[in-house]
Amino acid sequence: MASPIRIALQKSGRLSEDSYQLFKACGIRFDYGTGKLKSVSSNFAAEFLFLRDDDIPGYVEDGVADLGIVGENVAVETGRHVTTVHRLGFSKCRLSIAIPRGEAYTDIRDLDGKNIATSYPRLLGTYLAEQGVSAAIHEISGSVEIAPSIGLAEAVCDIVSSGSTLLSNGLKEVETIFRSEAIMIAHPALPAEKQTLLDQLLFRINAVQAAKN
Ligand code: ATP
Ligand code: ZN
Repeated sequence: MASPIRIALQKSGRLSEDSYQLFKACGIRFDYGTGKLKSVSSNFAAEFLFLRDDDIPGYVEDGVADLGIVGENVAVETGRHVTTVHRLGFSKCRLSIAIPRGEAYTDIRDLDGKNIATSYPRLLGTYLAEQGVSAAIHEISGSVEIAPSIGLAEAVCDIVSSGSTLLSNGLKEVETIFRSEAIMIAHPALPAEKQTLLDQLLFRINAVQAAKN
């Protein structure tokens, strides 16, 4: 049998279940949710690594994994050199700027000279530069939405799906800067036998997606 293709999946979080279900729908069996770091498929030349999502683009760039599933937001933010091979249509969300509900807002220029807290400094920085707005970006790793209430920043830039987290923190969404979904990424130069396995996998994924629509 060919040497297996290595696929990095999120260990536990918002991408995990749908990632697993995708392979299951493709008829690829492996143990999942056992707490192990690695699992070998019993019926396809693939082995799975279970990691934190933020680490996946780096492992794929370095070739530790051949493929990975991550949110596009994370793939772009990490700035790693990887190839997007498929858009998967799940874990949809957006990256938005939000401000306290009581504040007036006309347009993006209102953010000039303000402090914005985010876990996505690269995506936010690119957007502000495109818009010609100069604001101070404060990188924080979690609980971004509490930053205005503790006086750390006048605005936040964070992932939104339903908007209920913003609402419960007294914030309102004023700009959407990026729309994301789960994507499959690959090492930019896969060896031929791995590329063949990827092609077989994509053929199955396309069939599964076509059957759904
Ligand atoms: P890990 O422990 O692996 O680092 P995490 O807490 O960083 O996980 P999750 O919250 O599981 O990440 O989110 C994983 C991805 O799911 C996000 O990067 C994003 O692409 C997507 N996502 C979809 N909806 C949401 C949401 N409401 N909040 C956060 N992320 C979401
Ligand atoms: Zn993460």
